[in-house]
Amino acid sequence: MRSAPTILHLDMDAFFASVEQASKPSLRGKAVVVGGLGPRGVVATASYEARVFGVHSAMPMAQARRRAPNAAYLVPRFALYRSISEQVMGLLRALSPLVEPLSLDEAFVDLEAGGAAWDERSARLAGAKLRADIRAVTGLTGSVGLAASKMLAKIASEQAKPDGLVLIEPGTERALLGPLPVRTLPGVGPATGDHLRRAGIHTVDELAEAGEDELVRLLGKAHGHALFAMALARDERPVVAERETKSVSVEDTYDVDIHDRVRVGTEVRRLADRCVRRLREAGLSGRTIVLKVRRYDFSTLTRSETLRGPTDDPAVVREAAARLLDSVDTTGGVRLLGVGVSGLADYTQEDLFAQAAGVPADDLPHEEAEAAPAPEQETPAERRWPAGHDVRHAVYGHGWVQGSGLGRVTARFETPDSEPGRVKTFRVDDPALQPADPLPLVSRRPGEDEGAGAGGGTRAESR
Ligand SMILES: [Mg+2]
Repeated sequence: MRSAPTILHLDMDAFFASVEQASKPSLRGKAVVVGGLGPRGVVATASYEARVFGVHSAMPMAQARRRAPNAAYLVPRFALYRSISEQVMGLLRALSPLVEPLSLDEAFVDLEAGGAAWDERSARLAGAKLRADIRAVTGLTGSVGLAASKMLAKIASEQAKPDGLVLIEPGTERALLGPLPVRTLPGVGPATGDHLRRAGIHTVDELAEAGEDELVRLLGKAHGHALFAMALARDERPVVAERETKSVSVEDTYDVDIHDRVRVGTEVRRLADRCVRRLREAGLSGRTIVLKVRRYDFSTLTRSETLRGPTDDPAVVREAAARLLDSVDTTGGVRLLGVGVSGLADYTQEDLFAQAAGVPADDLPHEEAEAAPAPEQETPAERRWPAGHDVRHAVYGHGWVQGSGLGRVTARFETPDSEPGRVKTFRVDDPALQPADPLPLVSRRPGEDEGAGAGGGTRAESR
């Protein structure tokens, strides 16, 4: 492990909810919950004001509504989040060629590889400057963790939240890690956490005390070995750019071609489960599901689907693989099948993004899904006017949907740099009201120089 705290982990604070508050002046300082609003919806992000009521990520939306009935409930605007994410990732890439994104709002950066830092002092300065740059460019806050390993850098950014910076001095890692819950370590998801709890292991210290042999017995060789090293704060994993090229996959060749479509489906499910086991053993999760089919005539084809966030849920991988299989003609027989997961990340996010969108299962896995135009036929008002999405009115200008139903849509007219705006209600088919694109969060005021200090900033090039 390196001797200087030059691995940086950035995590934007309550990212989706913060973007919404920056966009909508009337929601600043208020409880905001972003997620799927349908019956199976879950919370993607809750603002800090909503967390006070006990609302958190991955919670079923119905439960969130019971806890915080007066919060604003909004449908995610992924295209906007992605454009802001690109601005943030651009700032990180200016620091180092080794940037490893974990999700839209989270990444590791190897500061040493980019020459941006070499010791404690320079690392702290680089982290502080990054936070200031992010605020100037996006108007949002991000928390920074600095340490000598990825695991500790991530723990540090968690401790820094919100809007802070924490640096873990090399040599203090084990003392810091010891009392923390096992779930803090990479590769310990809910299932592994439960398993360890049943064995009486709750903290990292208890994990280290259990010993390597016991952990291997409980969790298998690869996982047990890896986790024991992490418990001792040994984490040599490098920051890796271009994660997308890595994958975990399994395949089977059949002695006799399979003709029966039902049997093909069963095999794909079995392979998906095996693939997820491998993924979990490595403490990984992934975003892209790949299906490989070699047919009777040796023609081989691959199909893939990219989810909105990484998963290691067997049900999600199984369903994606089954959907991919639907698009493949197997009538002549199949001699090989494979299932893989790529776009790997170290931390599972419970497939939050995919569930949060609350869209029908068939367009769920596609990146483009949310950009698809609304169907022409009769659409319920909730679908055509999702809560939180942008509108433009011929007279009142730019605003957003506050709610809809019973043939009416209520919009609030305000922009990122206006005062909190006023609410108006229209018929859902009012021709003066149209869906609109999001506005940039930070706009340069006329006469201001590019890059002028706080309050100025660079224009957000979101479209
Ligand atoms: Mg975050």
